[in-house]
Amino acid sequence: MTIETTGTALLPSVRSFLERPKQLFIGGDWVDAAGGERFETMDPATGQVLTTVARARAADVDRAVRAARKAFEGEWSLWTAAQRQRLLFRIGEMIYDHADELAQLEALDNGKPATVARAVDMVWTAELFEYYAGWATKIEGRTIPVSVPWAPGAQWHAYTLREPVGVCGAIIPWNFPLLMAAFKVPAALACGNTVILKPAEQTPLTALRLAELMAEAGLPAGVFNVLTGYGDTGAALAAHDDVDKIAFTGSTEVGKLIVDSAKGNLKKVSLELGGKSPQVVYADADLESAISGTASGFLFNHGQTCTAGTRLLIEDRIFDEFTQGVAEIARNSKIGPGLDPATEIGPLVSDEQLKTVTGYIEQGLADGATALAGGRRHGDRGFYVEPTLLVDVHSSFSVYREEIFGPVAVATPFNADRGVGAAANDTPYGLAASVWTRDIGKAHRTARQIKAGTVWVNCHNAFDAALPFGGYKQSGWGRELGAGAIDLYTQTKSINVCL
Ligand code: NAP
Ligand code: MG
Repeated sequence: MTIETTGTALLPSVRSFLERPKQLFIGGDWVDAAGGERFETMDPATGQVLTTVARARAADVDRAVRAARKAFEGEWSLWTAAQRQRLLFRIGEMIYDHADELAQLEALDNGKPATVARAVDMVWTAELFEYYAGWATKIEGRTIPVSVPWAPGAQWHAYTLREPVGVCGAIIPWNFPLLMAAFKVPAALACGNTVILKPAEQTPLTALRLAELMAEAGLPAGVFNVLTGYGDTGAALAAHDDVDKIAFTGSTEVGKLIVDSAKGNLKKVSLELGGKSPQVVYADADLESAISGTASGFLFNHGQTCTAGTRLLIEDRIFDEFTQGVAEIARNSKIGPGLDPATEIGPLVSDEQLKTVTGYIEQGLADGATALAGGRRHGDRGFYVEPTLLVDVHSSFSVYREEIFGPVAVATPFNADRGVGAAANDTPYGLAASVWTRDIGKAHRTARQIKAGTVWVNCHNAFDAALPFGGYKQSGWGRELGAGAIDLYTQTKSINVCL
């Protein structure tokens, strides 16, 4: 099959991967789905089918859970922390070594610019493996002085152990396919768990390539398994009685379904969900840097970012000047396929997303909003949407309230004397926010007012492996990244010895 590309030739390693048959990775083996079903994955820049992958169903979930359980109770449990550290570090190095190939695959399957996938997704994925490699040898319990009041005179030696949770299901979305796997898999493995990964149906490819690399790195059979499939595969994993934990990243709607289905065996659940993040700009901000920073705050990854800063709250004195500046950047963004090195805004991931996003824009315009930039689909081939900035927006409009997950932001003015906290928090979400000002006191005060898991000052989307990440309100449960993820993938046992 010839894959159409623009700008950059496909690497031989990418061609060869696309030509290899795609199966499920269970218990260290590549196997077909029990029912023999397959589905297509496509390039959103062209709509062309890239390849087909196996469609896992409940029987395959069952098989993967058995393999993961066997590995958890078997050889993997005998590995020392130092062995896990070395292995995870090796996988991180392999991701660096294969970063160009993985970035092209991601660009083809997801639509994002390969240059961005290379510089952001792949580098950070590799770093996360290395970061949690370091954690593997630093997961410690504590010794605790106890008194046991009804046993005067007795002596005690009490301590805690941090033990792995067990078999973990990881269910991830399509917006940063490999990176979302890396938010979960290395932390889970560092703690000694085994993992079953269910990538999104739109972007299964890099998860499969990751499994190949991890096997090559020396991971024992069953420790990491990949089930490509649809929502029913995720649902079967979330409901399975022998899965001890589900780590989910995706929509708030599906997050609530996960909570429902996890209750059968009360498995542990962590959730990274949607957002409608505000970017608060005060009149005393460095306007040039705030204009470009807030523009990329909602345009990065074509707005398909859970932390996208899609509600611009601009101090009224600078509203017109500021929004004109952001609109100009939006209008001048270079739209094109992910493999073209000049591309800034790629296609949305699917026809369905294209319809959803253009539907929101049309509704916003019908409600009375004005498009200062964009407002339409771009072209008639591939799933492109013009970067769009809407003004004249009321807080009751769906474009203001709901997560659009495309390159679309709304801008509304605020009066600094009345404060911005109420407007910033006028959302069921609480994932992230940014504050733009030169006044350090105002920056910290505003950051404290905002109910969100992350607040950036004079930047947006500035993440780090060491910084806890997660949501307030309906943006999720728990914190990934940093030391917090160790809490997600371990449980604490208290041991009290009567001496
Ligand atoms: P989604 O529809 O919720 O899907 C996420 C994953 O869940 C996919 O693998 C999906 O499989 C699977 N799934 C669907 N139905 C399921 C069910 N009933 N039970 C178990 N799993 C099920 O989300 P999406 O459209 O892929 O991604 C966009 C959403 O993710 C946005 O809301 C965004 O904000 C959120 N997100 C959050 C973060 C964060 O860290 N907070 C990061 C990235 C994205 P299929 O692909 O087969 O449907
Ligand atoms: Mg695809």
